[in-house]
Amino acid sequence: MIPVKLSVTDKKFLDVKWDDDTETRIKLANLRMKCPCAACSSERAERGEKYIPIYSDEELTIKEIKIIGNYAVEIIWKDGHDTGIYEFGYLKKISN
Ligand SMILES: [Zn+2]
Repeated sequence: MIPVKLSVTDKKFLDVKWDDDTETRIKLANLRMKCPCAACSSERAERGEKYIPIYSDEELTIKEIKIIGNYAVEIIWKDGHDTGIYEFGYLKKISN
């Protein structure tokens, strides 16, 4: 399962079209909140599950999306955060 099309809609959602002909949509705030990188994961662990961060516009604007090999996408946010590597399965799982 790989993304065939990635698009940001209304500056608010990441829409993904998959090669199995399904489409998923995730809010950018949700995407950022579920960033799998070590820094974000440990911050979430420290603050607990109920912590809901408030993000600035820059933190919720995608500057670039890179496909990493055939297993993940790397999201580069406008605030410079670029360590989030979202494996395809994970990305699909957190979208709906
Ligand atoms: Zn992160």
